This record gives sequence, structure tokens and C-alpha cells, in this order.
Amino acid sequence: MINITLPDGSVRQYDAGITAMQIALSISEGLARNVLAAEVDGEVWDASRAIEKDSTVKLLTWNDAKGKSTYWHSSAHLMAEALEALYPGTKFGIGPAIETGFYYDVDFGDKVLSSDEFKQIEDKIIELAKTKAEFVRKPVSKADAVAYFTQKDDEYKLDLLKDLPDGAITFYTQGNFTDLCRGPHIPNTGFVKAVKLMSLAGAYWRGDESRKQLTRIYAVTFPKASELTEYLHLLEEAKKRDHRKLGKELELFAFSEKVGMGLPLWLPKGTALREKLVNFLQKAQAKAGYEQVITPHIGHKNLYVTSGHYEKYGADAFQPIKTPQEGEEFFLKPMNCPHHCEIYKTKPRSYKDLPVRLAEFGTVYRYEQSGELHGLTRVRGFTQDDAHLFCRPDQVKEEFMKVIDLVLYVFKALGFEDYTAQVSLRDPENKAKYIGSDENWALAEAAIIEAADEKGLKTVVELGEAAFYGPKLDFMVKDALGRKWQLGTIQVDYNLPERFELEYTGSDNMKHRPVMIHRAPFGSLERFVAVLIEHCAGNFPLWLSPEQFIILPISEKYEEYAKKLSDELKNSDICGLIDFRDEKIGRKIRDAEVKKIPYMLIVGEKEAEENKVSVRRHGQGDLGSMSIEEFKIQIIKEITV
Ligand SMILES: [Zn+2]
Ligand SMILES: [Zn+2]
Repeated sequence: MINITLPDGSVRQYDAGITAMQIALSISEGLARNVLAAEVDGEVWDASRAIEKDSTVKLLTWNDAKGKSTYWHSSAHLMAEALEALYPGTKFGIGPAIETGFYYDVDFGDKVLSSDEFKQIEDKIIELAKTKAEFVRKPVSKADAVAYFTQKDDEYKLDLLKDLPDGAITFYTQGNFTDLCRGPHIPNTGFVKAVKLMSLAGAYWRGDESRKQLTRIYAVTFPKASELTEYLHLLEEAKKRDHRKLGKELELFAFSEKVGMGLPLWLPKGTALREKLVNFLQKAQAKAGYEQVITPHIGHKNLYVTSGHYEKYGADAFQPIKTPQEGEEFFLKPMNCPHHCEIYKTKPRSYKDLPVRLAEFGTVYRYEQSGELHGLTRVRGFTQDDAHLFCRPDQVKEEFMKVIDLVLYVFKALGFEDYTAQVSLRDPENKAKYIGSDENWALAEAAIIEAADEKGLKTVVELGEAAFYGPKLDFMVKDALGRKWQLGTIQVDYNLPERFELEYTGSDNMKHRPVMIHRAPFGSLERFVAVLIEHCAGNFPLWLSPEQFIILPISEKYEEYAKKLSDELKNSDICGLIDFRDEKIGRKIRDAEVKKIPYMLIVGEKEAEENKVSVRRHGQGDLGSMSIEEFKIQIIKEITV
């Protein structure tokens, strides 16, 4: 008998040679129907593979990321089988699972596949899936594997085989298709109930431009037809919410090739929105004891030699800027931290002065390849809501708690309700590759875990994911479409205080090194605004809207009254505009709806006479007529966060 430990800690005994599927069956048939694979002692296995010794077993279903990726990788084999059936002689490269779905790189010879053929491939996949063919694993010798693919004349599989040691090669067969694969796979093809081929792309074999270009077919499969429908709907929705599209429609930001790719131009409305975000955070930071600083956009080469950025990123960064006379070299600022270290050093610090919290909305510049640039999420110049906290080792936990509070305050005010935190610690097996004393690492790691715990965060701990200079905590938010984004980050740093020889005088009158914490709740304003646009589909929370109201006079006669109203609202710090165009009121309302302006105030004869406004709310419709005082009370109440 062997002992099988399940995720809930319970231990069950089975005969050696039991499979994960049989374990599932012994628990419940319903569970067994959903098992795609199993994690055995941390490694993903086929559910049909025999377990010979005491093990920890986690059954994987569609709800586990690893279950899903096994499912999608198996679907790639299924698609390959369909392609081989439809287009005999097709050669196959690699077919991995990706974040959503999978792809297969294939060589059709002279044939050019068109998306018109997607439907028949999808039909073939479903036809094959219905046969419920099992995925059968078979270890093979290298000689046999080479013989098989030589006979099949598949140069790509033969190329892959070159790198594989004899004794570690397995084949997987389902139906009439056999692939070189280390697995694992789902039990049978019957789990695939819905498929959609998404797109085609060219892909060089092994990413090498000197080699042959294969056809990459992207596809996605689901265990239920309704899930595919839902997924396609989500994609449509994501397209509508694309921040690049909405950014243009709402006149928030623009790009100009003349200014340079990846360098966003913030238009007046986008700037208004951005300034509101900045003011909002600045106010919260002032309360939390931060001091605002400003540093230049460039720094002397020596600054980055000291910080280590020159050695690490020098070649990838922008080229140096040389002064004409003295021949000095400057660089565009890639990070604010080195500048802040120099601010810390401007005067002696005692243990009583700490923590010192220096904040800056600092614009930094980093080179990204033009192909990598994407709207506001991948740019070459961006503004971090940066701050550096210099504290004593015993203050790390408290500072972390305070930063977490700040991040959660930001998320709440902006409507991000679903978030998790990832705690990245060092690899305990490989301590030598990290800088800083063992004692300080232990202190900081415990502090982060305790702080996250005491704040009730949903956390995932990742070993070995820490930077070489310190552990960190990253926030992942889920947007309205269920997509995950990495936003805020809090990071401990033992490196820069060392490199810049930062000090404080302790209560023992001796010199000590402070701990440095980098943190940015938004991450960068550019990325944050992009995520926010897509999260709320351009319908910003009222307090953040660059235009909170628009007054729509029914005709020219009521412009004076409209101006009076507008001034009154602006005096109460409510921002908006008047639509003076000579258009029908219906048209004015439609245009305001498209611009997603929260409040539309319609004024005509009746309103002007009674000193009232007719109020419409974007997405809600008519709210009836009210006095300007009543409207002001309502909107101010809504704006106050
Ligand atoms: Zn495979
Ligand atoms: Zn920093």
C-alpha cells in the first residue's frame, strides 16, 4: 500500500500503481468526470499514469491553471490530427498551450491556408473529439523515434529530437495521430466540446529568421459550447473597451510619429483626468507622511554607474547625451531611485528621523523596441507615482502595512474590487545570488508576509521570484472583464543603500544602513489610465471625469442662462462645458452620450423661467427637472470619495 496525501491534508491508502483517475473515482464519480490531469509531487502527470510510491496528489480540473494548460496543449494535438487528416503531408513544429488557448506551427508545403478553411478544420476537430480517443503515452528509444519521423519525413520533429537524450523520449498517440511530446495530456479527446480557430501568423522555425517560416495557427477550445460563446463575447467587449480606441474617441491622449513612437501626448481632457489622479494620490500621501520632491529628467553617467543601472541596462538604454564643451555624459532617467538616494544624502539622518518618505511623480524613459510598443501600456516615456521610503530594519513591517493601506484606498476609490497580492521571496536553495544579510532578508520576508496577512490580503507566495536586491509584493487586479493586470508594487531594496553608502546614526551612536522601499500604487500613470479606461469602458467614476457635466441649450436664446449655470457649477469645483453648437437637442444629447459625459443639463424656455435644469444621466436617462441648488447637492455628494 502507498499513502496518497490530498491538498486538504487528508491521507488515503491505495495499492501501488493506482492512477489519479482511480483516486478521483474513489472520491466521487462527478469529480472523476472533470479530472483533466494531476499534480503528483509538484509535477503535472497524465491522470492515467501509475503512481508507485507515497505521493502528494492534486487532481487538476478546468478550474486549475495547470489543468487548463494541459487541456489546451492536448487540443493542439487534436488540431494537428485534424490538419493531417484534411491536408496529408503536413509537417508539424511545436504546439504549446498559451495564456488563452494554444497554437501549432505547421508547414503546409506549397499550400497557403486561408481563414475560409477554418470552419472545416473546426468541424473536423469536433468530429475527432467525439470519438473520445484516449491519449496514450509511450516511452520510445531515440532510434525508434528518429526512425518514425524519418519515415514520416517531418524535419521539424527530427530537429527537436536532436536535443533530446535517449531514455527521456515519449510519444503520445490519440486516434491516428502520434506526436513527439513529454506530455502530460488529458484522458481523451471527448473533453473538447467547442473550438474556434482565431488567427494565422507567420513564425520562423525556432524563432530563427534564417530558417523556414511556418504557419502558426492560433485556436481555443472549451469543455462547454456556452463557454466559447461567452469567451467570444468577452473578446468583442474587450475590443470595444480598447484604451487606444477610447483614448482617441474621448480625446484623452494621442501619439505623433513626429514626436516619436511610444511617447504619449496627453490632450487637455486626458491631462485633466491625470491631474485629478495625481492630486488624489498626493493628498493621501501627504496624510501618510510623504514629502514631495522633484528631480531632473536626466542624470550624469556617474549616477547610474553608482546605482548599477549603467552596467545592467547601459547598452539597452537610450544613447548618452554629451555636453559639447566638457564632454560629460548624461542619460535620460530610467528610474527615480538614484536621484532620491542623493536627496537622502543631503543631510545627516538619525534613527529618529526615519522613516524618510520621498515621493515624486517622476517621468522616466526606457527604450522599448518599436514592435513592443502598445498604446499606453508599453511606452518609451512614462510617469511613475514613485516614492522611496528609507527606514530602519525594524520599521519595514509597519511601512509595508501603511503602503498596503494606501494601495487599497486607491483601488477602492477607482472601483477595483477584485485583487490579489503576489509575495516574491528568495529561493531558499540559492541564497548566494542575493545581496543583503541573511538576518535582514529573514526580517523583511517575515514582515511582508505578516503585513499582507494582517491586512487580510489574498496572497500567493512565490519562492525564487524576488529580485536579487530584495523581496517584493505585487498587486494583481481583475478588471470588469475578468482580465488580470499587474498594477501596484512594493519592493524592499538592500542594494542601493549599499551602493550609495546611505547611513543613519542609530541609538547606539553608530552608523547603520537604512532599508529602502520602492513603491508605486498606480505603477505608472500611463499604464494605470489604460487599465482604468478598459475596466470602466471610459465611464470614469464621477470625481475623476474630465468633464462632469455638459449644458445643452435648446436654442441660442438660452445661452446666457447656460453660462450663468456653468459659472455657478465651476465655482463649486464641478467641471464641464456648454454645447453652443447650432444643432437639434436630440443630436446634442446623442453626442454627449457618445462622449460618456456623466451629466447632461438641458435648458430651454421652461427651465430658464423656473430657474431649473432638466437632468439626464449617462447610461440612465432622464432624472427629471430640479433647481441648480438641488443638482449641486446631488453631484457634490456623488463626487466626494
Ligand atoms: Zn503534447
Ligand atoms: Zn525606485
